[in-house]
Order: sequence, then structure tokens, then C-alpha cells
Amino acid sequence: MFYYFDPLYLVFAIPAFLISLIAQMRVQMVFSKYSRVRTFSGLTGAEVAKNILWSNGIYDVRVEYVPGLLTDHYDPRFRVLRLSQGVFDSNSVAAVGVAAHEAGHAIQHYQKYPWLALRTAMVPVVNIGSNLAFPLILIGLLLKNGDIFINLGILLFSLAVVFTLITLPVELNASKRAVEALKVSGVILPDEEIAVKKVLGAAAMTYVAAVSVAILQLLYYLSLVQRRRDD
Ligand SMILES: [Zn+2]
Repeated sequence: MFYYFDPLYLVFAIPAFLISLIAQMRVQMVFSKYSRVRTFSGLTGAEVAKNILWSNGIYDVRVEYVPGLLTDHYDPRFRVLRLSQGVFDSNSVAAVGVAAHEAGHAIQHYQKYPWLALRTAMVPVVNIGSNLAFPLILIGLLLKNGDIFINLGILLFSLAVVFTLITLPVELNASKRAVEALKVSGVILPDEEIAVKKVLGAAAMTYVAAVSVAILQLLYYLSLVQRRRDD
């Protein structure tokens, strides 16, 4: 309960909330703007993704439709590339950019790109760790000799911060591969390349926002520990 009534919590939570809100709004605005701009080549997101996969020798990744807005992702477990409603059937600049980006993740997986391998390996640890971190810190704060719980909680949450950092090179590299593939294959023209870069750049900022939010949360936990030591 005190988690929500701690006034200092707001000092960290309000900037974190604003950072993610602005990043989310921006990616949606940029995506929506370039969703209305058709490419000259006229290929749809699904066609572009398949072309990029095939030209990289990848034939065992399925390209599927997934409902929702900007829910596009590559699933390495099932080797499925899922494209959302504004991407799968659309021949907009935004759609081909997103589709090529997801294909970029499939190529990373196929070529065993180390940052993606590390990120995938960290997923189960981080899922458990980020859920356990706060309860552990809370138990540690309530117990008289609870330092071991606090330290374990901080360590687990630090792993979650590292995870958001490792996500950055994975995302930037997928976008770099996307732009290259679109250019080489002639799917986009030079002036369309600028628009694709804007869409992918706005998407990358949501991952930068996630790093900031995770760091703010870690700083809040550290501030709880500091205040306990001061008491
Ligand atoms: Zn991505």
C-alpha cells in the first residue's frame, strides 16, 4: 500500500509515465501519417516481409496476420512473423517499413545475431525477476535484518534494466537491416527512404523510453533503501 502513498514515488513515476506516453503517442502519430502515403512499388507489408526473408535464404518463417494496432512482431520460438492490420495488407510507406523491420529480426535469428540470442535467453529470468523484485524489496524493508532480500530484489531489477539496454542494439540493427533490404530490392525510392526512417526512428524511441522508465524505477528502489539506511 505504501508503494502508492509514498510521495517520493511520484517524483519517479510521473516522469516515467510522461516519457512512455510521449514516445507511444509519437510513434502512433508518425505511423498514422505515413500509413496514408502509398509506396511507388505498391507491394504490401506481407509481400515485402516474404521477399526479404526469401532473398536471405529463409524459407521456414511463416508470415501471419495479427489483430491490433502496431502489434507486429517476430516470434523466434515458432518462427512466425506476425504483421498487424495496418501493415499486413497495406502498401503504405509505414507498412513496408514495419514489415521489413520484423523481417530484420527474423534474419537476426537466422544469422544468430549475438544481441538477439542474449536477449532471448534473458526473457524467462527477466520475467520472473521483474515481478519478484518489488515484493523482495518490500519484505526486506519490513524485516529488521532484511538486507539480503533488498539486495536480491535490486539485483533482479537491475537485470531488467540491462534487458531494456540489450533490446536497443537489437531494435536498431533490425531497422538498419530493414532500410538496407528495402533499398537494395528497390521496394522504396530515395524519398520514401526518409519516411521509412522516420517511422522506424519513432518506433526506436519507444525502446529508449523503456530504458529511461526502467532506470527511474531502479532509482526509486535505491531511494527506498537509502531512506531506510538514513532512518
Ligand atoms: Zn523490433
